[in-house]
Amino acid sequence: MNIAIIGSGLTGSLAAISLAKAGCRVDLYERLSDEELINRDRTYAITHSSRKMLEKIGIWSNLSIDLVPFQYLNVIDYELNKKFQFLIDDLSISDQKYSAVGWIAEHKYLMVSILNFISNIENINKIPTSVIPNTNNYDLIVAADGSTSNTKKKLKTPSFHFKYDQMCITAKVLLRGIKSNEAFEILNSEGPFAVLPLGGDLFQIICSQSVVKGTYNMNLSKSLFLDYLSTILPYGIEPDTIIDELKSFPIDFLINYSFFSGKYIYLGETAHKIHPVGGQGLNLCWRDVDGLAKLISIPLLKNNHSFIPLIYSLSRFFDVLSISVLTDSLVRYSRCDLNIFFLPRSLVFFILKKSALLRKYVLNIMTNGF
Ligand SMILES: Cc1cc2nc3c(=O)[nH]c(=O)nc-3n(C[C@H](O)[C@H](O)[C@H](O)COP(=O)(O)OP(=O)(O)OC[C@H]3O[C@@H](n4cnc5c(N)ncnc54)[C@H](O)[C@@H]3O)c2cc1C
Repeated sequence: MNIAIIGSGLTGSLAAISLAKAGCRVDLYERLSDEELINRDRTYAITHSSRKMLEKIGIWSNLSIDLVPFQYLNVIDYELNKKFQFLIDDLSISDQKYSAVGWIAEHKYLMVSILNFISNIENINKIPTSVIPNTNNYDLIVAADGSTSNTKKKLKTPSFHFKYDQMCITAKVLLRGIKSNEAFEILNSEGPFAVLPLGGDLFQIICSQSVVKGTYNMNLSKSLFLDYLSTILPYGIEPDTIIDELKSFPIDFLINYSFFSGKYIYLGETAHKIHPVGGQGLNLCWRDVDGLAKLISIPLLKNNHSFIPLIYSLSRFFDVLSISVLTDSLVRYSRCDLNIFFLPRSLVFFILKKSALLRKYVLNIMTNGF
């Protein structure tokens, strides 16, 4: 089967490897150079669903060298002043043997490994342009050209989209009073924020807050931002030094009404975009890749490839919609400080702290999706 992939971000690149491994001939179109693709300053949480997929296509052992595992995921609710932890024991038995609740990955290491891998696969042809000269040459076209996808605009595929009145600030910070194998997800009325381990004392802060407050904080000097961080980090954790520049990006929510149009299939952020809380974004994109590769490996569908876009779209909708709604609910939960929710909120936290069964259920959804 001949497939064109538009966009060589983390979704498009991984799709190229997966589909090539499934026996397809892949032309991978990208407008940016490899250097530009690599030099993005982003940090991702990697879950077991991604680990399984990377293992399946044979790149996990190489790639995992650059990942930082964490064994504790602390969830803190500042409004309630309560905390519980997800531990390795809360994972399914098969996931427990990896001794990690999840992993943290820096974009540049992931991208370098994946691009290296692509360069060793014969049936992937990288084409440095943004326009496919003749779409008739392809049985299927995968659009992985990101949330501002031109392909989607051209095909007039409708989507549900809104901007959060929030922005995200990220910084790499040296911290004291924290273990190098623990991550934090903090529910705060300004907006949720995450503290992710990058090895040793180095941590990535991903902090969402109102655009007004975020813009103010982005204009602070590093030492004043450190003072601000010391007021929002959990008790006992002290920020020492910010080791790079503060960065910020807007946060929006997007979900297509359909994940295909004719022979075009929408993958990754072309199809959906969610708030970074919970670290689900990239994992959801990669589950799209896995879903498509599975369909393409079915011999009956290989010979009747015109059915693949529709079946793909139907098969991915539930996972994408559920994780999108769940993530959005978490943001609303975090920002809601109405007294009437105090009791139900306390109850949820109490049950999660006490019930290993419920923790297992929630962590399984967070790590493996629906
Ligand atoms: C500023 C920023 C910071 C982020 N930080 C985090 C974070 O800290 N943690 C996290 O989990 N997620 C983060 N995200 C989200 C995360 O980056 C995405 O989930 C992930 O990159 C999705 O990958 P993708 O390949 O679907 O899309 P993209 O990464 O957007 O890739 C799309 C690719 O398509 C290419 N392209 C576009 N149009 C064309 C065309 N016509 N022809 C050829 N190529 C084309 C683009 O150049 C790009 O390389 C961040 C996103 C942004 C924008």
